[in-house]
Amino acid sequence: MPSFDAKAAESQLPHLLDFLAAFLRTELQTLLEDFLPKEMFRIAGVLLKEWERVVAQARAQAQKEGNILSDPCPACGATAVLCLRDEKRVFCHLCEAKRYHYDRCTECGRQTVSSFSYFDQGNWCDSCLQGIGEDYMQTLIDIERGK
Ligand SMILES: [Zn+2]
Ligand SMILES: [Zn+2]
Repeated sequence: MPSFDAKAAESQLPHLLDFLAAFLRTELQTLLEDFLPKEMFRIAGVLLKEWERVVAQARAQAQKEGNILSDPCPACGATAVLCLRDEKRVFCHLCEAKRYHYDRCTECGRQTVSSFSYFDQGNWCDSCLQGIGEDYMQTLIDIERGK
């Protein structure tokens, strides 16, 4: 029986994906960013060398527009791709997210990239939102355990 080393395969996976992405681009003129769902941009940024090319393009566009924010994009995780448009509106040149504001966070008071909540009319930064998410999960777990 042939043996199959799952660990070795797993560590080779990013190389395989990179090869496929480069092949699509050079041989089939198909760009990763044209068909990859935006929800997968973050994971592509972690896994793929090919993605550096996409981020570099977005950064060049951001540079051209000016008013670049130092905050990472809450949606795709890339840095130096967010531009500030008329005072508060934020636009991401990588994932094209438009729903963020550059404003003071209701919770921590930081002037940063945040999203408006229709639920409580507040303006929340990404790290506070994440904190709420974790607190909420913990509450659910506690209830489940009968605390
Ligand atoms: Zn983005
Ligand atoms: Zn905050």
